[in-house]
Amino acid sequence: MADLLVYSEKTQTACELAAKGREFAQALGLGVSAAALGEGAAAAAPELGAAGADRVFVSEDPALAGWPADAVAAALAQIAAEAGATVVLLGSTRRGKELAGRLAEKLGAGAVTDVNALELEGGEFVAARYAFGGATIAREKVASDVRVFAIMPKTFSNEGASPGAGTVITPALQLATGMKVVERRAKEGGAVSLDAAPRIVGVGRGFGKKEDLALGEELAAALEAVVGCTKSLADFQWLGEDRIIGLSGAKTSPDLYVGVGISGQVQHTVGVASAKLIAAINKDKEAPIFQMADYGIVGDLYEVVPAVIERLKAV
Ligand SMILES: Cc1cc2nc3c(=O)[nH]c(=O)nc-3n(C[C@H](O)[C@H](O)[C@H](O)COP(=O)(O)OP(=O)(O)OC[C@H]3O[C@@H](n4cnc5c(N)ncnc54)[C@H](O)[C@@H]3O)c2cc1C
Repeated sequence: MADLLVYSEKTQTACELAAKGREFAQALGLGVSAAALGEGAAAAAPELGAAGADRVFVSEDPALAGWPADAVAAALAQIAAEAGATVVLLGSTRRGKELAGRLAEKLGAGAVTDVNALELEGGEFVAARYAFGGATIAREKVASDVRVFAIMPKTFSNEGASPGAGTVITPALQLATGMKVVERRAKEGGAVSLDAAPRIVGVGRGFGKKEDLALGEELAAALEAVVGCTKSLADFQWLGEDRIIGLSGAKTSPDLYVGVGISGQVQHTVGVASAKLIAAINKDKEAPIFQMADYGIVGDLYEVVPAVIERLKAV
């Protein structure tokens, strides 16, 4: 039986793909396989089964330690062959996007990355993604026999997923890596995961200088939120690239997003469009962010934010 294969280095994303993959697979008469790779991968197998995988290919081969992209791509290509996969769904994370190209080359497949909607139309997959800097949406089909789609995290949900059998398979893989890790360094300022954050304070160019971002941090602390930013602030190197929200960064879906000193250009707002509640603070009442905000305060952030923090602390 041919299969639809799902993989992401992030188990939650892989579960989302397995859940939606099961719907696609049922419509196409395919089975659902998932891959769990690397140290401790076996722990993810039950979750993947519960999310919809019939078979979970688990490999903790030492060659996969540290996620060398070439060995991971080789592992997935071999698993895809064993599963008879005609469709591969990956998470469109940084690693997933790198993997998509490598895997597609090995499988002789076409690949689409940054996919934010995937549908079946007349038995064919149609993938949508932003194009021309977020100004339009491109809808694309892959003409090859095997297709690889890298899908943005949280595009699908595994809530209420139909479970699969979750049979664990340990494939015999031939792996080698040409990569040698010479050093690992922690990211400055610590890594954040905006994809999964329930509350986010977004900061933009309304902040006059890097030191002033402390005010945004303070607001975030009062809301138990994490700080994300527009690309402009990452370009200034005021915050790391992992803080960017939008087309070039994270696609978030928090319960609350508060945009402070952010104009609301589409390249940023595509990353917050799924937020349940959006609030904005901007001194320009015509700022585009107010068009999508549920609540807005027109005012100077240097006056508004301290007042909001004070009120939050009083609650
Ligand atoms: C291909 C491409 C990809 C891109 N990808 C991304 C992306 O992923 N994410 C992203 O964010 N951007 C992205 N951009 C950049 C994007 O187009 C915008 O330039 C950027 O989002 C604007 O950032 P900003 O809102 O911080 O700055 P501005 O647009 O300069 O807005 C600053 C806002 O702050 C307000 N303000 C100023 N002072 C105060 C104050 N004292 N109090 C209150 N409000 C104040 C102003 O009224 C203004 O609305 C991309 C651009 C391109 C071309």
